[in-house]
Amino acid sequence: MKIGVIGGGQLGRMLALAGTPLGMNFAFLDPAPDACAAALGEHLRADYSDPDHLRQLADEVDLVTFEFESVPAETVAFLSQFVPVYPCAESLRIARDRWFEKSLFKDLGIPTPAFANVLDQADLDHAVIEIGLPAVLKTRTLGYDGKGQKVLRKPEDVVGAFAELGSVPCILEGFVPFSGEVSLVAVRGRDGETRFYPLVHNTHVNGILNLSVASSNHPLQALAEDYVGRVLKQLDYVGVLAFEFFEVDGGLKANEIAPRVHNSGHWTIEGAECSQFENHLRAVAGLPLGSTAKVGESAMLNFIGSVPPVDKVVAIDDCHLHHYGKAFKAGRKVGHATLRSKDLATLQARIKDVEALIEG
Ligand code: AMP
Repeated sequence: MKIGVIGGGQLGRMLALAGTPLGMNFAFLDPAPDACAAALGEHLRADYSDPDHLRQLADEVDLVTFEFESVPAETVAFLSQFVPVYPCAESLRIARDRWFEKSLFKDLGIPTPAFANVLDQADLDHAVIEIGLPAVLKTRTLGYDGKGQKVLRKPEDVVGAFAELGSVPCILEGFVPFSGEVSLVAVRGRDGETRFYPLVHNTHVNGILNLSVASSNHPLQALAEDYVGRVLKQLDYVGVLAFEFFEVDGGLKANEIAPRVHNSGHWTIEGAECSQFENHLRAVAGLPLGSTAKVGESAMLNFIGSVPPVDKVVAIDDCHLHHYGKAFKAGRKVGHATLRSKDLATLQARIKDVEALIEG
């Protein structure tokens, strides 16, 4: 079976690393000459809306999936005429726009911060009166890793804030005084079968995910599964979806969804029976899903900007290095390490060992 992937970054690369043992081949559509997934399949180097290359991709593969959600709607519509596309166009339409996303949470009764649509500075001024300060202004589309957003703490911050974010459609969200951030990675097959990985605690630095630690018997697991299950069913979703929540007052508030494999699920490669990458491929290919059970304690640390010396990383017990083969650049995700152990105390010690290498 040949899988077409829109995007050829590290998520595409890890999909191919998981799918190759299942007998799958891969073609990646990505305009970047140095797309890091290209080493693991065919690279169609073209713009995401180039009709000739989209047609070529559709002709060559059995189905198409995505490694990022900001794919033009026309690309999805065009491909869908010729080849099955998972997740479906509607899932991408909702997940790439924070207004549609938050509106869906509200319609499904999933708690989320107060939010308002902001199409100009006057909308923002009204929204601030309604929601109050502090609040977070976010572009509706294309924001990631903390980009495309601004925390508004005092009235002076509101002046000109819409222009500062580029005068594009935004939402204003109430600021959530959260005690923690967690995500739930789920997978739903073509037949509707749904499985959930354990909730993961996430820590961000400068808006970029730094550390994910998989939980055991988290008291909010069942509640998170209920919320995520509602979204998956509503969208008739196929594939892996990640749902990010704020932990607040002993409950959960929905932040955002990613209609794809997710950075907070990378630990599953070594830390779960079947990884998020393999389960995504199983789901879109119509294969039975794999177990999402954890194998011992597990955590993931991102390497941002550069990867520490390989010999030092792999010298740490039960530490698994993933080097994405990308050029090192400040603020760029260029690799990660998964740490495993039988108990949490040892896991914490191993996290500290890797952190020391990053700092060094
Ligand atoms: P996002 O791109 O929406 O995931 O936001 C990036 C990070 O900004 C989140 O992981 C939070 O740490 C923080 N953040 C986003 N929205 C809010 C909010 N409404 N209240 C408090 N912190 C937020």
